[in-house]
Amino acid sequence: MKFETAFSIDTSSIKYGPGVSGEAGYELNRLGAKRVMVLTDHNVSKTQILKNVMDSIKAYKIDSFLYTDVRVEPTDKSFKDAIRCAQEGKFDGFVAVGGGSTIDTAKASNLYSTYKASFLTYVNAPLGEGKGVPGPLKPLIAIPTTTGTGSETTGVSIFDYLEIKAKTGIAHRFLRPNVGLVDPDSTKTLPRMVIACSGLDVLCHGLESYTALPYQKREAPEEPDARPSYQGSNPISDVWSARALQMVGENIVDAVNEDENMEAKANMLLAATYAGVGFGNAGCHLPHAMSYPVSGMVENFNPEGYSGIGPIVPHGMSVALNAPAVFKFTGSSDPDRHLQAARFLGAEVSGADKARAGEVLASVVTGIMKKIDMPNGLREVGYSEKDVDKLVEGTLPQHRVTKLSPIEFNKEDLKNMFLESMDLW
Ligand SMILES: [Zn+2]
Repeated sequence: MKFETAFSIDTSSIKYGPGVSGEAGYELNRLGAKRVMVLTDHNVSKTQILKNVMDSIKAYKIDSFLYTDVRVEPTDKSFKDAIRCAQEGKFDGFVAVGGGSTIDTAKASNLYSTYKASFLTYVNAPLGEGKGVPGPLKPLIAIPTTTGTGSETTGVSIFDYLEIKAKTGIAHRFLRPNVGLVDPDSTKTLPRMVIACSGLDVLCHGLESYTALPYQKREAPEEPDARPSYQGSNPISDVWSARALQMVGENIVDAVNEDENMEAKANMLLAATYAGVGFGNAGCHLPHAMSYPVSGMVENFNPEGYSGIGPIVPHGMSVALNAPAVFKFTGSSDPDRHLQAARFLGAEVSGADKARAGEVLASVVTGIMKKIDMPNGLREVGYSEKDVDKLVEGTLPQHRVTKLSPIEFNKEDLKNMFLESMDLW
């Protein structure tokens, strides 16, 4: 096997600042759009941010169609509904105003209305056919309204595949939005639990991309075109991930617990974008892989702040619940990196025993989770030992992320990590 020798960094162009969402019309006009589909969900559709975006589009005399049926934690069914609308509308541009769910739905709508194909064509193998996207898509402006996913910077779109009750996605650099308008005003009305869960998503994006398999330990692609967006940790993504972790360490607890602390919330929004540049190029690994069946198999859990959308383990929560067990497991792959990550989050690690690097990092993560009132493990969101085999089965097909684990693992290891994640403290 020939190992990889190169890495690349791609990102959307980003504009950050209070009120910058009002530049949507300018950006669409600059990109030549005349008739656009604006995607959002029911809650965001009532906000001032959406109104500002619509007004700015109108000011540039661009036709728009407002689609408000995006599902939080989208499914193949909800994707197909938006795609149908995108295909019928013959749009030449897209705007997403919302969380990762909305931005991801807009990416899929743009893809399948630009290059029509049966749904599984571009979905990651082995669940889908994993075909490459044939060429550039239409302009997409992403305006994130939660402080978490970093989806405005990435070429990844994630959904629940209902048939197998697990998440999968589509990943290709052509899916990446042209512009991300990152507007701190959008965080003003976020429910506390949404800030907590999306903040933990940022935390895990930073930790996973920083500890992922280094790019030069991955197999080299046969053609440059086949180089994945998720390339493994590399010197440039490290810079972004490290800074994101510092910002999360300094701000996550205050952003969640101090309702009026707009500075902490704005910093978390910026941290999400930083982490997005990091993980959008390096990739995530086991905490994300294990989260997909956790959120896919949920039956009854519904935390405050997520009412009206049925049972849900929010994405960031489902990732963080598995993270401590994973880092204990991966610590030996690179103890220095695991300790460095703990240090970025504000922990005092000088003199720490390298043999315990994974545990040190795990305890920093659980410390943060406690302070922001996360459930104490998978048991509190409805799982027990009898679900572990199914959770393992749902993790194994997540090749896009599992192959970036910095350490080799088998079914038994996954089983043990899920068992350990039942009760965290
Ligand atoms: Zn995530």
